[in-house]
Amino acid sequence: MDITRKGFFGLAASAIAAVASGPTVAAAPKAASRIAKARRTLIRGADIITMDPKLGEIAGGDVLLDGGKIAAVGKGLNAGDAEIVDGRGMILMPGMIDAHRHVWEGMDNGVIAKISRTINNYNEYKLRTMVCYTPEDAWLAQYASAIQAIDSGVTSLVDYCHIFHTAELAEQAARGLIDSGIAGTFCYQVSHTPTYKAGDTVRMADANAMRNAGPDDTHWRTVALLRERVFTGKDGLVRFGLCPSPGFNGRALTAIAAEMARIRTYEPHIVSQHHHRSKEVLPPHLFNQFEQLGPAKLLGPDYQVVHGNGMTDAELALCRDNGVMIAATTMGEQSYPDPSIHGRARAMGVAAGIGVDGALAFTHDYFQHVRGGFYNLFRTDEGKRIASAYQGEDALDFVTRLGARAIREDGVTGTITVGKRADLLLLRTDRINFPIVGPFADRVANYSNQPDIDTVWIAGIVRKRGGEMVGVDMKGLKARINAASTRINEQGATINFV
Ligand SMILES: [Zn+2]
Repeated sequence: MDITRKGFFGLAASAIAAVASGPTVAAAPKAASRIAKARRTLIRGADIITMDPKLGEIAGGDVLLDGGKIAAVGKGLNAGDAEIVDGRGMILMPGMIDAHRHVWEGMDNGVIAKISRTINNYNEYKLRTMVCYTPEDAWLAQYASAIQAIDSGVTSLVDYCHIFHTAELAEQAARGLIDSGIAGTFCYQVSHTPTYKAGDTVRMADANAMRNAGPDDTHWRTVALLRERVFTGKDGLVRFGLCPSPGFNGRALTAIAAEMARIRTYEPHIVSQHHHRSKEVLPPHLFNQFEQLGPAKLLGPDYQVVHGNGMTDAELALCRDNGVMIAATTMGEQSYPDPSIHGRARAMGVAAGIGVDGALAFTHDYFQHVRGGFYNLFRTDEGKRIASAYQGEDALDFVTRLGARAIREDGVTGTITVGKRADLLLLRTDRINFPIVGPFADRVANYSNQPDIDTVWIAGIVRKRGGEMVGVDMKGLKARINAASTRINEQGATINFV
């Protein structure tokens, strides 16, 4: 589809108007304006897991937030007129980082289980639903799902956006993520040109070919539009990234190199790509070209390998030596023959994070993924050796300090350190079974759950307080995503794949 500037502006504007004025959209895109301003704040008397090797844990410590950053860490701090938050009896830790999530899927939590009797697999589900989203739906899916992430203590993530391929959908998807107030990188995938719609009869082979196709002109125009209209600079809480076509579609190295070269002309903060090495579950031509990328000099500090399970030590060394990041998805990796790579990658000196991945199928309680990552290590003897040396802090590393490196936010977030962005979680510890002994990181890694999250700050702005999201009508939002999801899935069910 050719999109003129005029048509695009018109559609985007009407999408926003529709969302803002519709009867079911009380929260609207304007919800973003309800995000409070960053205030000078002193969190007093908390038990602090700084994740900063120089600071360690501080019992009964104070943290001063100023101008969206961490201004001071210590004990007995004085802060004049700062707002005081009583952190006594609570644990303060860095906001958690999700290195790989398909954010849009928060629209359809649980749907993969619910539809299993009628729809064969995840890819068919995507093929049905992706052509039924309106731009308003795209905004809503991204906004609502990112709000869910913040609610679960995730303050920064990499969004692997692999369903909203037209310019209208992609722009609204990006804006939804930005409007949520979360930090991280929005990665638009340059592929998929489905030409069918609800009610059509389509050969499944054709639909799959469209899904796996490489980029065409419409994708590059969309990338240019996103750069012109949404991501004009390099800074901002949400940065611009790209995902190449799925698994490079098994294409020749020259085609992969050409795609990568064009991707990099847009200066993406992150180039994120799924690479599975578990050949037992996927066609060998898919996801397995990683070994070709190093010698072809296509790897670099912008490159993020997703999954990477089954990678060899030589490939991990290639990652380390080229500054390549890895986003393992510890709970999602359980269904593959090889265990999650995060422990081995970390031991090899690679910037490794973890992530929720399929937000529609895995719990959003991110502490469960942290624990899943730790216990995943026990699937191999090597992993057991790695795990035997772990403290709670090591388990938390993947979602804090090292996690920040795995999303190219090293030096920005991930530790409670003066000068870093004030991305913080204050956790309640008053549940009867919450431990009172051991390092604070051990207690959190073993026992914390989403309902324990009392307060969330992103860039010094309070997003959750007293266990409730601030400035977000959560009930209304749930009603909106339920209505949209129901409609999209009903429409998707009318597509007749043959
Ligand atoms: Zn994924």
